[in-house]
Amino acid sequence: KEELNIIQGALELRTKTVEDVLTPLNDCFMLASDAILDFYTMSDVMQSGYTRIPVFENERSNIVDILFVKDLAFVDPDDCTPLKTITQFYKHPLHCVFNDTKLDAVLEQFKKGKSHLAIVQRVNNEGEGDPFYEVMGIVTLEDVIEEIIKSEIVDE
Ligand code: ADP
Repeated sequence: KEELNIIQGALELRTKTVEDVLTPLNDCFMLASDAILDFYTMSDVMQSGYTRIPVFENERSNIVDILFVKDLAFVDPDDCTPLKTITQFYKHPLHCVFNDTKLDAVLEQFKKGKSHLAIVQRVNNEGEGDPFYEVMGIVTLEDVIEEIIKSEIVDE
Protein backbone atom coordinates (compact mmCIF):
# COMPACT_ATOMS: atom_id res chain seq x y z
CA LYS A 1 0.00 0.00 0.00
CA GLU A 2 2.75 2.41 1.04
CA GLU A 3 4.77 1.46 -2.06
CA LEU A 4 1.81 2.07 -4.33
CA ASN A 5 1.39 5.51 -2.82
CA ILE A 6 5.02 6.34 -3.45
CA ILE A 7 4.87 5.11 -7.04
CA GLN A 8 1.79 7.22 -7.64
CA GLY A 9 3.47 10.21 -6.00
CA ALA A 10 6.52 9.74 -8.23
CA LEU A 11 4.37 9.54 -11.36
CA GLU A 12 2.58 12.74 -10.42
CA LEU A 13 5.86 14.67 -10.36
CA ARG A 14 5.47 14.99 -14.12
CA THR A 15 2.13 16.73 -13.93
CA LYS A 16 2.27 18.74 -10.72
CA THR A 17 3.93 22.14 -10.67
CA VAL A 18 5.88 24.05 -8.04
CA GLU A 19 2.83 26.28 -7.65
CA ASP A 20 0.95 23.28 -6.20
CA VAL A 21 3.44 22.77 -3.37
CA LEU A 22 5.07 26.14 -2.66
CA THR A 23 5.10 27.92 0.66
CA PRO A 24 3.34 31.26 -0.04
CA LEU A 25 5.39 34.42 0.37
CA ASN A 26 3.16 35.58 3.23
CA ASP A 27 4.07 32.47 5.24
CA CYS A 28 7.81 32.80 4.64
CA PHE A 29 10.08 33.75 7.48
CA MET A 30 12.34 36.41 6.00
CA LEU A 31 14.67 39.19 7.06
CA ALA A 32 14.92 42.74 5.76
CA SER A 33 18.28 43.43 4.12
CA ASP A 34 18.95 46.35 6.47
CA ALA A 35 18.44 44.17 9.57
CA ILE A 36 21.05 44.24 12.31
CA LEU A 37 22.19 40.90 13.71
CA ASP A 38 21.63 41.79 17.33
CA PHE A 39 20.41 39.44 20.03
CA TYR A 40 16.72 39.92 19.13
CA THR A 41 17.09 39.27 15.41
CA MET A 42 19.34 36.28 16.00
CA SER A 43 16.92 34.73 18.51
CA ASP A 44 14.07 35.27 16.04
CA VAL A 45 16.08 33.41 13.41
CA MET A 46 16.90 30.57 15.80
CA GLN A 47 13.31 30.30 16.96
CA SER A 48 11.98 30.17 13.40
CA GLY A 49 13.81 26.85 13.09
CA TYR A 50 14.50 27.36 9.36
CA THR A 51 17.91 26.73 7.84
CA ARG A 52 17.57 29.13 4.91
CA ILE A 53 16.13 32.59 5.22
CA PRO A 54 15.28 34.78 2.26
CA VAL A 55 16.42 38.38 2.60
CA PHE A 56 14.31 41.11 1.03
CA GLU A 57 14.96 44.74 0.17
CA ASN A 58 12.18 47.29 0.82
CA GLU A 59 9.29 44.92 0.10
CA ARG A 60 8.88 41.22 0.82
CA SER A 61 8.37 40.41 -2.85
CA ASN A 62 11.86 41.72 -3.64
CA ILE A 63 14.12 38.87 -2.48
CA VAL A 64 17.76 39.81 -2.96
CA ASP A 65 19.70 37.23 -0.92
CA ILE A 66 19.52 34.03 1.10
CA LEU A 67 20.96 33.74 4.58
CA PHE A 68 21.93 30.26 5.79
CA VAL A 69 21.68 29.87 9.53
CA LYS A 70 25.16 28.30 9.48
CA ASP A 71 26.49 31.66 8.19
CA LEU A 72 25.80 32.95 11.69
CA ALA A 73 28.21 30.53 13.39
CA PHE A 74 30.90 33.19 13.87
CA VAL A 75 28.59 36.13 14.46
CA ASP A 76 28.52 37.55 17.96
CA PRO A 77 25.16 39.23 18.73
CA ASP A 78 26.99 41.81 20.87
CA ASP A 79 28.77 43.10 17.75
CA CYS A 80 25.44 44.09 16.17
CA THR A 81 26.76 43.15 12.72
CA PRO A 82 24.66 44.43 9.80
CA LEU A 83 23.05 41.51 7.94
CA LYS A 84 24.51 42.95 4.71
CA THR A 85 28.04 42.25 5.94
CA ILE A 86 27.22 38.55 6.14
CA THR A 87 25.18 38.24 2.93
CA GLN A 88 27.82 40.14 0.96
CA PHE A 89 30.51 37.84 2.32
CA TYR A 90 28.79 34.55 1.46
CA LYS A 91 26.82 35.72 -1.62
CA HIS A 92 24.76 32.54 -1.92
CA PRO A 93 23.29 32.42 -5.42
CA LEU A 94 19.52 32.82 -5.75
CA HIS A 95 17.78 29.98 -7.50
CA CYS A 96 14.55 31.06 -9.23
CA VAL A 97 11.94 28.93 -10.97
CA PHE A 98 8.68 29.74 -12.71
CA ASN A 99 5.35 28.75 -11.15
CA ASP A 100 4.57 26.30 -13.96
CA THR A 101 7.84 24.34 -13.59
CA LYS A 102 7.00 20.65 -13.16
CA LEU A 103 8.13 18.97 -9.97
CA ASP A 104 10.31 16.44 -11.82
CA ALA A 105 12.21 19.32 -13.46
CA VAL A 106 12.78 21.17 -10.18
CA LEU A 107 13.85 17.90 -8.50
CA GLU A 108 16.45 17.49 -11.24
CA GLN A 109 17.74 21.02 -10.51
CA PHE A 110 17.87 20.31 -6.78
CA LYS A 111 19.79 17.07 -7.47
CA LYS A 112 22.35 18.95 -9.57
CA GLY A 113 23.35 20.74 -6.41
CA LYS A 114 21.70 24.06 -7.01
CA SER A 115 20.40 25.45 -3.75
CA HIS A 116 17.72 23.21 -2.23
CA LEU A 117 15.50 26.25 -1.91
CA ALA A 118 14.09 27.98 -4.98
CA ILE A 119 12.16 31.22 -5.30
CA VAL A 120 8.96 30.80 -7.30
CA GLN A 121 8.08 33.56 -9.75
CA ARG A 122 5.20 34.05 -12.13
CA VAL A 123 4.56 36.44 -14.96
CA ASN A 124 1.81 38.81 -13.90
CA ASN A 125 0.07 40.17 -16.98
CA GLU A 126 -3.16 41.12 -15.30
CA GLY A 127 -4.08 44.76 -15.20
CA GLU A 128 -3.17 47.61 -17.52
CA GLY A 129 0.58 47.95 -17.24
CA ASP A 130 3.37 45.85 -18.71
CA PRO A 131 3.70 42.25 -17.51
CA PHE A 132 6.15 41.84 -14.64
CA TYR A 133 7.70 39.03 -12.63
CA GLU A 134 5.99 38.46 -9.33
CA VAL A 135 7.38 36.34 -6.50
CA MET A 136 4.78 33.85 -5.25
CA GLY A 137 6.74 31.99 -2.58
CA ILE A 138 9.46 29.42 -2.05
CA VAL A 139 9.81 25.72 -2.74
CA THR A 140 12.36 23.36 -1.21
CA LEU A 141 13.52 19.80 -1.79
CA GLU A 142 11.41 18.77 1.18
CA ASP A 143 8.23 20.04 -0.50
CA VAL A 144 8.99 17.84 -3.52
CA ILE A 145 9.81 14.78 -1.42
CA GLU A 146 6.56 15.21 0.50
CA GLU A 147 4.72 14.99 -2.81
CA ILE A 148 6.47 11.71 -3.57
CA ILE A 149 5.81 10.06 -0.23
CA LYS A 150 2.43 11.79 0.09
CA SER A 151 2.81 12.65 3.71
CA GLU A 152 4.11 15.49 5.81
CA ILE A 153 7.68 15.30 7.05
CA VAL A 154 7.64 16.56 10.61
CA ASP A 155 10.67 18.74 11.19
CA GLU A 156 13.16 17.97 13.93
P1 ADP B 1 14.40 23.65 6.84
O1 ADP B 1 15.65 22.91 6.49
O2 ADP B 1 14.62 25.09 7.11
O3 ADP B 1 13.53 22.96 7.86
P2 ADP B 1 13.12 22.48 4.55
O4 ADP B 1 13.83 22.63 3.25
O5 ADP B 1 13.26 21.18 5.28
O6 ADP B 1 13.53 23.69 5.50
O7 ADP B 1 11.58 22.81 4.31
C1 ADP B 1 10.59 22.52 5.25
C2 ADP B 1 9.32 23.31 4.93
O8 ADP B 1 9.48 24.65 5.36
C3 ADP B 1 8.99 23.38 3.45
O9 ADP B 1 7.59 23.32 3.30
C4 ADP B 1 9.52 24.74 3.02
O10 ADP B 1 8.78 25.29 1.94
C5 ADP B 1 9.34 25.55 4.28
N1 ADP B 1 10.37 26.60 4.48
C6 ADP B 1 11.70 26.52 4.28
N2 ADP B 1 12.32 27.69 4.60
C7 ADP B 1 11.33 28.53 5.01
C8 ADP B 1 11.29 29.91 5.49
N3 ADP B 1 12.39 30.66 5.60
N4 ADP B 1 10.06 30.42 5.84
C9 ADP B 1 8.93 29.68 5.72
N5 ADP B 1 8.90 28.40 5.29
C10 ADP B 1 10.08 27.83 4.94
